[in-house]
Parts: sequence; structure tokens; C-alpha cells
Amino acid sequence: MKKVLASCPYCGVGCRLCYIIQNGKVIKVEGDPSDPVSEGRPCIKGLTAYQFIDKERIISPQIKEVGGFRNCDWEEAFEKIAKKIKDLKPENFGFVGSGELSNEDNFVFSKFARLVARSNNIDCCARTCHAATTVAMRKLFGNPAMPNFIDDLGRADVILAIGTNPAGNYPIAFNRVRAAKARGDLKLIAIDITSSATLEAADLGVVINHQGITAFVGGLCRLLIEEKVYDPACDGREGFEEFKESLEPYTIENVIKISGITRETYLGIFDLVKNAKQFVTMHGMGVTQQINGVENVIAILSLAQLKKGMIIPLRGKINVQGAGDMGTCPDWVPFGGSTSKTKEIWGEILQDAPGHRMSEFLYSNDLKVLFVLGGNIAQSLPELDTLHKNLERVFVVYINHHPSKTMEFANVILPCTVLVESEGTITNGERRVRYTRPVVKACENVLPAWKIVANLAAYLGQEEKFKYNDAGDVFNEITKAIPAYGGLSWEKTKSNDNIFADKSKFFEKFIPLKNTPLSPPPKDFPYLLTTQRSPFHFCTGEQTRRSEGLVKLHGKAECLISEKDALSLGVKNGDFVRLTSPVGNIEISVKILKKATPGIFSVPFHFQDVLVNKLFGHELDPISGEPNLKACWVRAEKI
Ligand code: SF4
Repeated sequence: MKKVLASCPYCGVGCRLCYIIQNGKVIKVEGDPSDPVSEGRPCIKGLTAYQFIDKERIISPQIKEVGGFRNCDWEEAFEKIAKKIKDLKPENFGFVGSGELSNEDNFVFSKFARLVARSNNIDCCARTCHAATTVAMRKLFGNPAMPNFIDDLGRADVILAIGTNPAGNYPIAFNRVRAAKARGDLKLIAIDITSSATLEAADLGVVINHQGITAFVGGLCRLLIEEKVYDPACDGREGFEEFKESLEPYTIENVIKISGITRETYLGIFDLVKNAKQFVTMHGMGVTQQINGVENVIAILSLAQLKKGMIIPLRGKINVQGAGDMGTCPDWVPFGGSTSKTKEIWGEILQDAPGHRMSEFLYSNDLKVLFVLGGNIAQSLPELDTLHKNLERVFVVYINHHPSKTMEFANVILPCTVLVESEGTITNGERRVRYTRPVVKACENVLPAWKIVANLAAYLGQEEKFKYNDAGDVFNEITKAIPAYGGLSWEKTKSNDNIFADKSKFFEKFIPLKNTPLSPPPKDFPYLLTTQRSPFHFCTGEQTRRSEGLVKLHGKAECLISEKDALSLGVKNGDFVRLTSPVGNIEISVKILKKATPGIFSVPFHFQDVLVNKLFGHELDPISGEPNLKACWVRAEKI
């Protein structure tokens, strides 16, 4: 039996785990007491992370034929791709990178898109979770990275958690909150559009109107400025006067009307925020997955500036920060935009017009060939009936380790390693760059994704530009191509836990808030539906649904509804309802929750047999292109 320390495959907290190996298989996972992130106490998802590795693996390249997929060799798979991509224009391509694979995998994938397909139509799962955050942080601070640390949570005296449920979804980060609360040092305010474990654990937990976040936070900013209790350094900052003017609509009366909370609660929250000495904001997808996601985040970052506070956005997948840093983003430019360096190191100058975002190109008729790396867009994007129709006519190359809904649309499948079967790095939500080593050997025909993509580039005649002996070679190129990783080295990253890519604010400024009008519920769709995450599953569930320990704890999708709504629909626990929105419908069993808010339904998006995102229309935040996956109107009927 041996023990190997390597990354958790799941969330952006980025814990390191201790994998116990016997006869070449992982038989158990334990905490790693030397890990500064998890402090030796990973969550249940981490502790069961070994259970999915060998289940239903893709172990050979495959090609779709009438009646299903057949195994083939690498050459035949590459030949099929080569024939299909010949003579296509850049706009005919789409590339989706992966927050669950390494920096090296994403970097080579991004380089392939730009040098081989000559396309900037590349994106990753950040588009569906924190695109609004990265856009807002770029606008206000010049850097799309969390400026603070998870440990800062333990130093706060007041935390405002908005649209996030760390008690359920980021328990390791929330351990810091619990410990500070137990010491009596911390007051937690939690605001969300539906009830959650974090709201229950908070000193002040409040359900707010889903369209009321900008107004609620803007109103707090207005009160701080009116009472002259803000950081005086803000006075001289760019945009501050215009920002102040934009707060005019957010009077106490308007805020309580828009957000739906009582005056007493609102002023109670303001009092806590006003008196905070070490103020921290946390936010998540309840804030970002809305059609005004960027506005919401700008409001939160502005409040943090006024309070000289800290900002902790909790990122989704383990390497979603890294995937974006590596260039799986349509407006990314390598070498900090230096054309001479690009030519010197990559051998040519790239086209500089930004590409399209995946929330756009996946629905476009221009798309002809799509490369999907380690992700499941056919379950995670909105308006799935429309998306699936488009994917049916597109040639899809699926590079992944396990089957998913997206694989059903694949024409060629290329089998890659899971994160813990190969060497590489990940960048967690704090921009902490962590080395991860192979825990077990992958099957013979299964390769790290960076190697698959490099081999494909070589097959297409670009061998010289994709010559890497190992992940360390790729990392060395990353440190040249990406300024934020400039000071790092492979050797140091392998041996040091506290290596960070550049997370400093390049500047601080304000932007005026827009006063987005509320839209009333449509007449025939009386219930608000929101999506929710289970503490026992992760994203679209390809890994957690294959972990028997987790499935025992949470095995199926259920629609959580209030007692009042159950009564009016005439349903009891386990009865099925049909939920219908203007763009789709699903059938799902109900679970009645005492604490559920009447009028609001909540459904997890982890389960392939109940594709809840069918119900969400293709509505994007106009600034970030992030889809609304948080709130849509539905009707319900018992079936
Ligand atoms: Fe840590 Fe997230 Fe893994 Fe849980 S799922 S062990 S919080 S990285």
C-alpha cells in the first residue's frame, strides 16, 4: 500500500488529497494534513473521489457509425478529423476547454485552436459560472483574479455572502467561517434568491427577489456614502463621482420594494456592514448567472472598495481559473499581446480579432466542427432542445475520460486521462498554482489531453510547434506566454504549496451602476424556477454520479417545493409534475420542504435524466455573455 498526494478533481477551492493505492488501484482517499487549503479535512466529494475513476471509462479512440460508436486506432480517428477540418474558415470552428483538466491540457488546446484552426472561437465552462465576475474584476481592478485568499474568511468580522451556498458547496472554505463564528469573532449575512444551508447558518439569512441584487447592494453603497462611513481613499478614485450619481435610485424605499425584504432587515444588514472592521464579500452563481450578472458583481466589488474589504468569489471547477488563464477564452492574447514574442516563440502572428463566446457559437449556424475538452455542454448550457438540434448537425470531437450527454453528439471520441492520472498543474480559485502528480497509471491507450492535441497537431503537419517531452515542457512555455505566470517555474511549483500567479489589482476604480428595470412574471408561468447544487454532486455529475458513496447520499433529481405550493398543485412527496417554460419541459418528482419559499421551485442540474436547463431560454448577460441559469418562470401540473 502506498500514499500519493494529488489534487481533488472537483471544485475551485482546490484541495490536495492523499490517495491510498493498492495493487495499482486507488482504494481510499484521506485528508492531507500538510495541505494549507483543506487543512487535512476534505469534503465528502473529495473523500469519495477515487470511486469514479475506473467506472465506464473511455479506453480507446472511437468513431461514430450508423448504430453507434466503434473502436479505432489513433490514426483513423485523426484522419477523420483531418478530412473534416480541411478548408474550413476560423468562424466554422468552436473549442470548449476544461475546468476539470490541467493547465497544460488547456494551454496546448488553446494553442491548437489559434495556430492550427486559426480560430479564436474558444471558451470554457467559466462562461456558465463566473464570466460575469472576471469581466467585472477586469473593469474595476484590471485583473480577472480573486485578489484575496480563502484564509481571509477566518479573519473577517462581517461576511456578506450573496448568491452562494458555501455551507453546501464549498464546505472547506465554509470551515473557516464556522470556526470564526464559533470563536464569536464573526457575523455572517447571507442573501440568496432561495433558501440554503448557508442562509440557515447565517446570523442574518434573507431570501431576496432574484432581480434585486444590484439594487440591494447599490443601496448599501448609497447609505455608506450618505453617512460618510466609507474608505476616504475612494474619493480620489476614477469614476467615483459618476458611481455616486448612479446610486440615486437606490433609496431605502426603492431597495426594499425591489428586493422584497423588510425595512428592519435591510437596516439591520446595513448596520452590520457599516460597523465591520474586516469586511468580506463572497459571491457565487446566484449573482453571476443572471442577465445582469456583470452589474451585480460590479455592485459587490464597489461595496468592497467602499469598505476597504476583501473579495472572495468562489469559483466552480477545480481549474476553471487556470483554464481561462491558459487561453480558453475568446479575447485572450498570448505573450501579453506582444506580436514579436508570439512570432519568436510560436513562429507566427495570430489573427487578433476576438472570437465568439461559447454561449454564442454553440447556437450558431456557422459552427461546423466543435472540439470539446473534458466538459459537458449538452447538459450545462441553456435552452438545450435548441442546442441539441444544432449539435446534431455539427461534427463533434469529444476529448474526455467518461461518457456524458455531450458524447451522444460526438463523431470522434479521443480518450484522455482524468486529472489524477497525469502530471500537471491546476490553478485554484485563489490563483494558487498547484502541482498534481499521477496517482495511478492510465490504460495504455489513454493519454493526457495535451499529448492528444499535440499528436493531432503533428498529424496535421504542425509537429515543430507542438514538440513537448512532458508536462514540464508545456509549463515552461506557459511561463513565457502568460504574463501572470511569468515569475513561476516548474521545479518551484512542484515543491512549494504557496505559489500564486499574479493576483494583484492593477488599479482600483468605479463604474456607474445601471438601473436595470424589473420584469414582471409572465401571465401563464406563475412559479420561479432556480437551479441548485447538491453537497454530494458536482456540476453535470459525470464523476459524482459514478461514485457509489455519493449516489447513496443523493441519487436522483427532485424538484424542491414549499408546502403551500404542494397543496395548491395537489401533490405529495414522490409525485411527478411536468414543469413547462416558454422553451421546454421536464418531468420530475417533487420533494416538499418546510423551509422552501412559496412560489419558488428549485431543481439540481447534476442529473442527466432530468435536464433542467431545457427550461432556461437562451438569454445572455449582454456584457459577459454569461447565460441566465438562475431564474426562469415555469408552470407546473401534476402528471
Ligand atoms: Fe476540497 Fe472542493 Fe474537493 Fe471538496 S470538492 S475536497 S472542497 S476541492
